Amino acid sequence: MESLIKNEIKRYFRESKENWFEEIHGNYFEEPVIKFASPEDSLFQEYKKVIGDHHFTPKEAFELAFGEDSYKGGTVISVVLPINEKIRKSNRIQTKWASREWVLTRTFGDEIFMKGFAKYLESYLNKMGYKTVAPYVSEWFQVHRTASGPTSNWSERHIAYAAGLGTFSINDAFITEKGIAIKLISFVTELKLRPDVRVAVSHIENCLLCSKGICGACINRCPVNAISKAGHDKIKCMQYVYGEESRKLAESYGASPKAGSGCGLCQTGVPCEGKNPTKVV
Ligand code: SF4
Ligand code: SF4
Repeated sequence: MESLIKNEIKRYFRESKENWFEEIHGNYFEEPVIKFASPEDSLFQEYKKVIGDHHFTPKEAFELAFGEDSYKGGTVISVVLPINEKIRKSNRIQTKWASREWVLTRTFGDEIFMKGFAKYLESYLNKMGYKTVAPYVSEWFQVHRTASGPTSNWSERHIAYAAGLGTFSINDAFITEKGIAIKLISFVTELKLRPDVRVAVSHIENCLLCSKGICGACINRCPVNAISKAGHDKIKCMQYVYGEESRKLAESYGASPKAGSGCGLCQTGVPCEGKNPTKVV
């Protein structure tokens, strides 16, 4: 069953018209990486302390969708969507704003393809007889604004960490075996699948600066100095990435102003862009 689900997700990525980016003659997202976590993993309770009480456990997310006492166990499916290398390459040479390809990916890849994929897998598993919810497209999904920056009630990075897909980085992103230039999405299903083993020995293992004190390439890439050895200034970053100029740029390329242009400079032209930089190849 594990292989069936993984193969179906990969098939969808290959065949979905919404994953096709005509301008680069390729897909927005390359072959996904998929892993499974147990909803009973104690990490999900710990996130209530680490992130805040507003962060839902898989059981809570499931019951928000299907009603009180509906949860009887199951699986959390976490998916890494690696951004196509052609798109990443176009962003490597940028020094102030994201490339046109990166900007368009934000609207047509993130907003349209990802949401379509979330709805597709929900319905695929529901039709198989397993109730499934994708928090990212649920009406209760929210990003809260706090004094230290935005925080959501379902953090895809924390879910991916629980599933063993990678670790956190100095710039508040997530480094997987396919690198940092990725998107993440997850599902809570009542289908019981074998959980994957989390091999990382620490939650910051894949970032060269956090784990070994070297690199820092993302610090130099940031056009607004939002990253330092001490961490990532979420507010400074957000103001740039979602600010007025970013919205205008997105609009000028035919993308959604609401999605903004993004930036992604700290995720491209860096050693962790498309691979786990701590692994010697
Ligand atoms: S560029 Fe270097 S310091 Fe920055 S996130 Fe990647 S590995 Fe960490
Ligand atoms: S996304 Fe852009 S603004 Fe935000 S930290 Fe990365 S490089 Fe800086």
